[in-house]
Amino acid sequence: MNSYWIDSFPKIINNSKELTDNLTADVCIVGGGITGISTAYELAKAGLKVVILEKCLLAEKASGNTTAKITSSHGIFYSYLVKAFSVDFARKYLFANQEAIDNIEKIVTSENIDCDFERKDSYIFTSQNDDLQKIEDEVSTVNLLGFPAEFVTTPPIPLKTVGAIKFSNQAQFHPRKYIAGLCNYILSKSGEIFERSKVVDIKRVNSNYMISTEKGSVTSKYLVLATHYPIVKIPGFYFLKMYQEASYLIGVETKSPSLDGMFLSTSSPSISLRTVKDPNKQLVLIGGSEHKVGIKNDFSNAFSELEKFAKQIYPDAKVLYRFGTQDCISLDKIPYIGILSHMMPNAYVATGFKKWGMSSSNVAANIIKDKILGQKNKFEDVFSSTRFGPIKNRAEFGNMLKESTYSLVLNRFNLPQATIDDIACDEGKIVKSGTKKIGVYKDINGKIFAIKPYCTHLGCELSWNSLEKTWDCPCHGSRFSYSGEPIYDPAIKDLTRPKE
Ligand SMILES: Cc1cc2nc3c(=O)[nH]c(=O)nc-3n(C[C@H](O)[C@H](O)[C@H](O)COP(=O)(O)OP(=O)(O)OC[C@H]3O[C@@H](n4cnc5c(N)ncnc54)[C@H](O)[C@@H]3O)c2cc1C
Repeated sequence: MNSYWIDSFPKIINNSKELTDNLTADVCIVGGGITGISTAYELAKAGLKVVILEKCLLAEKASGNTTAKITSSHGIFYSYLVKAFSVDFARKYLFANQEAIDNIEKIVTSENIDCDFERKDSYIFTSQNDDLQKIEDEVSTVNLLGFPAEFVTTPPIPLKTVGAIKFSNQAQFHPRKYIAGLCNYILSKSGEIFERSKVVDIKRVNSNYMISTEKGSVTSKYLVLATHYPIVKIPGFYFLKMYQEASYLIGVETKSPSLDGMFLSTSSPSISLRTVKDPNKQLVLIGGSEHKVGIKNDFSNAFSELEKFAKQIYPDAKVLYRFGTQDCISLDKIPYIGILSHMMPNAYVATGFKKWGMSSSNVAANIIKDKILGQKNKFEDVFSSTRFGPIKNRAEFGNMLKESTYSLVLNRFNLPQATIDDIACDEGKIVKSGTKKIGVYKDINGKIFAIKPYCTHLGCELSWNSLEKTWDCPCHGSRFSYSGEPIYDPAIKDLTRPKE
């Protein structure tokens, strides 16, 4: 797996440092992806002293493996919002994201960030007659909300389509170059950024938070959890109301005429396309093959389906990059932005971006900044993180319950027949060891890596991901390397290794 964004811009900050002291700050931000860094930027600009703690390197997780379209066109979505909420709610969601595009452009200009920001039209297209009505209805809904979306029969894409909804003047950029520009500003305002500094404990001490890593701590009045999936389980209970979906991207070089625009299909699995401004080659990113984390068993076609599609539209396509990541999705499909819980004063969260975190992270940064400064934000009600209401997505809620019950209880006592000897090299499996189950990966040389196959977040049984050689949790989407280290939250502890 090699992300174009990381490959083309490997270093976000010079002089990377680990937290080894006990510091104080106004705000401690946990998580150095686009959400944490955008929030830190807004707060530093407002004159607050910020410290960012990142457990790995900045923008290497979701924000370094994304497609990076910046748009308010989030699939066929506004018809759903009007039906599930109201016209006013849908309008606010749309204009929060529209404003975010303009805000990002203003930041790029004012901080002089060289991040390949380009205005582009965005199209949601279909090649199926059955989806045409959905697109027409979406155009009418978006127009009713006050945005001039258009219906077009032939969007500029080398595919047979029957119609598309066009949002003009959206944008795309290089996310890591943008984040690097924000970091430069934060550092220039005496903000501090620490990499390889995993937060392992958060305590309330008097009226402050003490946020500890293995080697140091930050004491601050305000805490922002920008860890993608909140690392605090209780209070907040975000694990009861979110799941994670993974998808994949390929970067293909082609000499065919360039695409003009950003594209997303209505099909399932979807196809997403955008160009990249690369000085040396004409590169197109093609994404799709999405699936819920921990559920898929057959990964054999995750990239091959995308490559087949690439060859169909660009016969000369040469695949240079293959990468992927995952994002959190709330049960009502709206991000959670705002206070973490009524039981934790001055603590904030931003999550559940449903694969639209480029604009949503800017919305989040502004809402959290306003909350900390005691100002009302005109969009905060839409994204309220403590909202309560009837479950909008009953089907997914049912799936979450079913998967949790199966992997926490029902499957516990199903002892597999296979043993370690049945595992081929470069294969992983849950096998029988006496009366217990163990998860085993045998590397290409036959070296064995064994773990207890239960997630350290809440104990669900893990499944093997043969594409990325990871142990994945079907309940909340945590993922672990084959040797047991956590790589995607919410789990923060290593898997237990069985005794020899
Ligand atoms: C395939 C794919 C394509 C996408 N394409 C688009 C797109 O075109 N447009 C769009 O708007 N959105 C897109 N998204 C969504 C977008 O990429 C994400 O919503 C966004 O990057 C999330 O950013 P983040 O900062 O919240 O999370 P991340 O980038 O994951 O950052 C969270 C950070 O927190 C750190 N962290 C976690 N735990 C700890 C801890 N204990 N201590 C310290 N640090 C910690 C992690 O290491 C990580 O760096 C896509 C998503 C996917 C899956």
